[in-house]
Amino acid sequence: MAEIRVLPTHLVNKIAAGEVVERPASVVKELIENAIDAGATRIDVSVEDGGRKLIAVTDDGCGMSAEDLALALASHATSKLTSVDDLLGISTMGFRGEALASVGSISHAHIRTRRRDDDGGCEVSASGDTIEAVRPCAAAPGTTVTVRDLFFNTPARRKFLRTVNTEMGHVTERLIRLAIPHPTVAFTLRHNGREVQNLPAVETTGARIRDLFGDKLSEGLLPIAPREREVGVAGLIGRPEAARGSGKWEYFFLNGRYIRDRLIAHALREAYRGLIDPGQFPVAFIFIEMDPEEVDVNVHPTKIEVRFRNGQLVHGELLAALKDTLNKANLVPRASLGTEASGRTVSADASESDPAGEQRRDSLRQALADFFKATPPTQPRFSFPERPARTHHGEPPERARSARDDDRPRVPQAPPSRFTAPVGEPAPAGARLEPPSPSPSPPPAIQIHDSYIVTACEDGLVIIDQHALHERVLYNELKERLTGPEGTGAGGRLTAQRMLIPETIEVTAAETSLLESNVELLSRLGIEVAAFGPTTVAVQQFPSILAEHGVPPGRFIRETIDKLSEDATTDPERVLEDLLEMMACRAAVKAGDALSPEEIESLLRGSETTEKASSCPHGRPTTLKLTLRELEKQFKRT
Ligand code: ADP
Ligand code: MG
Repeated sequence: MAEIRVLPTHLVNKIAAGEVVERPASVVKELIENAIDAGATRIDVSVEDGGRKLIAVTDDGCGMSAEDLALALASHATSKLTSVDDLLGISTMGFRGEALASVGSISHAHIRTRRRDDDGGCEVSASGDTIEAVRPCAAAPGTTVTVRDLFFNTPARRKFLRTVNTEMGHVTERLIRLAIPHPTVAFTLRHNGREVQNLPAVETTGARIRDLFGDKLSEGLLPIAPREREVGVAGLIGRPEAARGSGKWEYFFLNGRYIRDRLIAHALREAYRGLIDPGQFPVAFIFIEMDPEEVDVNVHPTKIEVRFRNGQLVHGELLAALKDTLNKANLVPRASLGTEASGRTVSADASESDPAGEQRRDSLRQALADFFKATPPTQPRFSFPERPARTHHGEPPERARSARDDDRPRVPQAPPSRFTAPVGEPAPAGARLEPPSPSPSPPPAIQIHDSYIVTACEDGLVIIDQHALHERVLYNELKERLTGPEGTGAGGRLTAQRMLIPETIEVTAAETSLLESNVELLSRLGIEVAAFGPTTVAVQQFPSILAEHGVPPGRFIRETIDKLSEDATTDPERVLEDLLEMMACRAAVKAGDALSPEEIESLLRGSETTEKASSCPHGRPTTLKLTLRELEKQFKRT
């Protein structure tokens, strides 16, 4: 058997680095946490090439003595924990004393520091397995840690780094997670010399959230009604109509530390159940305060996951607080309020910010809404060109269709006479006669509960989910316009409309660069946005198909950004398909929309010429079929 040996320190550090330092953002997080622990009131972060080349964090905190500095880069050196008992009552951000040592072992690191009352400062450098001696130097009070060439000696990690934009997105996100619970600390973030975040010191979390995410998001937030219990719950949550397409706006903090937790996420979803679409996520900034002894934060190397001693209690208290807040709030969506009611909403909101401007915007919105209500559209909301079904062998469309798929609903050209009567209505006396004219008769289809269409097919009846089918039809159309018939690769573009009044949306710095790097993709879809300020972009151009179906541009672009930042894949075709799916879903008629007979006919006609019409783009069925045989069985006719 091999001899047991104690590992050399630098190797231990390198192994620890593998756990703590996954990517540049991990370093940024550890360094900011140290600065916060040092009592800093301002923290400046500077990054080059998404952090691969350089990460520098400067704070105005307490600084270190020369003796402490000599230890700071040593493994398990910490000033924050001296006994096992301490481990149970941790209130500082760091405590394991391995971050600096780990980072030093996989980069060229340099620390310069000075305590306020010392005459001069001191500095130290580390690189891989060597740590140099501490030297005196000139320094401002506080500490600057500089990390160059991260992973220079761990090529495997280096290989896993993603694009500069992706890494920078992670860096920004880590900063945000620390900036939210520390509003009184000022932060700046620079990337390649350009300032991407500038967060002044403010008094409240609400003000910090406003600086980070903009007025629009923060104005609609509901403060969680405070509860003084064993488990303290506080924070701000979004109105249901502000829900997003991804869970990115769910921020949970436990005793001031950002965490991810399934129990908390579950309570949040429960609280919003029935208020938002199942596929959507609320905006939420939730702060849970509890006795540190009731929770183990030392189960995950980066402390992002925790273990509650009494999870059910936390879940229950949180759910109660959230439900209470949502119940007390007036949750009628503002856009659909009548004139009188919306007047009330305006004055309620106006107390929070810029009353005149907000009121002007609201009355403008209302006037536009009234205008469109007063002139109902004369055109059906959707229609399909009556193009012949694509055939593979040049047969007439009629034959090609029935050969392809007998289950799909058919707009009968010359239907069997017995089934010409509309389903559900008594057959008029003459209905059994062949229709006199050769022109197609209206489809024997009815809409039920404004959600489903019931119609006859060759050997039974079909029930169609109007939303799912319309979604599929639109998706295929869009896809074909973009990639040519049968994916011939004839790359087209979707037609777009210029916005007369560009709608603006609030974005973060990371989202702006995300939009920048997807300009070409978005332009193929007919979307054009332009920077309009540090945290604002304006929608200049919007896909016609969405505009025609009344999809609000701001909201759609918001969802698009969420989708882009959420998408794990970078394969542009896959991303494009994801976005097309979303477009089709938003433009399609919804369950609950009453359809005119023309619209029903048009939808059925569209389905005939559509590939894969039996399932929607997400793979759910569009159509259920009951055969005559099944009916006979059910009615005990056999
Ligand atoms: P931990 O934060 O877990 O204690 P670190 O390796 O991150 O471990 O830091 C080691 C020690 O270095 C800290 O305990 C602290 O005493 C000191 N230190 C690190 N960063 C700073 C800073 N920005 N200002 C003052 N002291 C610092
Ligand atoms: Mg630390």
